[in-house]
Amino acid sequence: MTLTEKILARASGKAQVSAGDNIWVNADVLMTHDVCGPGTIGVFKREFGQQAKVWDRQRVVIIPDHYIFTSDSKSNRNVDILRDFAREQELPYFYDVIDDPSGHWKFDAAKGLLKKQYGSNYAGVCHAALPQKGHTRPGEILFGTDSHTCMAGAFNEFATGIGNTDAGFVLGTGKLLLKVPETMRFRFEGRLQPGVMAKDIILHVIGEIGFDGATYRAMQFDGPGVASLSMDDRMTIANMTIEAGGKNGIFPFDSRTAEYIESRTRLNGTKQGYEPVEADASQRFIHESVINLDELEPTVACHPDPGQRKKAKEMTDVKLDRAYIGSCTGGKTSDFVEFARIVRGRRVVIDTFGVPATPEIVHDLQTTRWGDQTVWDILVGSGVQMTENAGCAACLGGPVDTFGRMNTPLKCISATNRNFPGRMGHKESQVFLASPATVAASAVAGRITDPREYVS
Ligand code: SF4
Repeated sequence: MTLTEKILARASGKAQVSAGDNIWVNADVLMTHDVCGPGTIGVFKREFGQQAKVWDRQRVVIIPDHYIFTSDSKSNRNVDILRDFAREQELPYFYDVIDDPSGHWKFDAAKGLLKKQYGSNYAGVCHAALPQKGHTRPGEILFGTDSHTCMAGAFNEFATGIGNTDAGFVLGTGKLLLKVPETMRFRFEGRLQPGVMAKDIILHVIGEIGFDGATYRAMQFDGPGVASLSMDDRMTIANMTIEAGGKNGIFPFDSRTAEYIESRTRLNGTKQGYEPVEADASQRFIHESVINLDELEPTVACHPDPGQRKKAKEMTDVKLDRAYIGSCTGGKTSDFVEFARIVRGRRVVIDTFGVPATPEIVHDLQTTRWGDQTVWDILVGSGVQMTENAGCAACLGGPVDTFGRMNTPLKCISATNRNFPGRMGHKESQVFLASPATVAASAVAGRITDPREYVS
């Protein structure tokens, strides 16, 4: 069995499963957020009753993160619905925007978009927050009401996005009927060269197979090249498996995984036991390819979908209006650090927005010093508009007052993960997906630029 089949077999209580089998699996964690949470709660109450209790309080994680820093009253109300439900169900893992459990969330536009407006429990973008808060564990099943839930496959677990109806059912029962996906294997060899990042790997892979090339398939990333990839790198890659239509993405377990999981579960007092999976020697794939990491170059996915692959060095004629670094995919500490390496001592020449994925990342950037400056100071000093209000922000457009949203038809290079028409706001805007390094070099040059021009 493959890594995915091993986990699904265990979760269904079977010795063996094969691609195409329909099986009932037990969920280890169900995550929902402010966009899908109210709908999920509605389904749960309709189907299980107004007084029903969730199947396991310890396994439900609620993370408001999408439409938070906006004056849109319906968006603010969604956070209140989550709070009411968390209080009613006595859920220990609700990462509220405010500290008052009986309060109401209201964004104060008068304070501006840059200074933080959240309390001490707020966790930021769900997919970055889940591992930071100790909710990802090898060998487990994570369901989330968000397509990029697949990011947690970096931790050797089966993680996938589900709809509100399925999530309402999981809330009530802890179970879900799944078809075992076929597995596509991408074997990594070698290591990335300077100026090339994990984002370039996954943009390369999606370019190879197309934005629907892995529809309802598991994407297994393994081989000797994995050892050189940090957990942030693996998260970037697993995050974008859905951009090829993948059911899930998954990495093998190693000492880096163990170190991350053990420190995070200990730090947050979450469940510490876990049982990783290893693939069988006899595992079978529907597709196999080898990716030599040494040969990859900075890559861009052009408008209008993540499969439109080109090399950054071939796109220097594309003049840009805007650059954006943020999201679960591209708003991690390591992403901003790579960005800062390039803009340090330089100025961006187009509007450039920076949105860290989580408050912890804001803290990292504001306390990590390079000489007499913090990384945050370097970013701001180069002209990047950095907000402390960690969240999804303009990654998916959002209400018109969302930080960084494209309200006019602009061309933007972005470290985010999705570029379908209208994704970041105006439906005639164009989004070019790239690594944080490529976004930084392009922000400095004002046109799409290969970051190796700026890497010594
Ligand atoms: S940052 Fe973007 S991709 Fe990630 S969860 Fe938020 S909206 Fe989705």
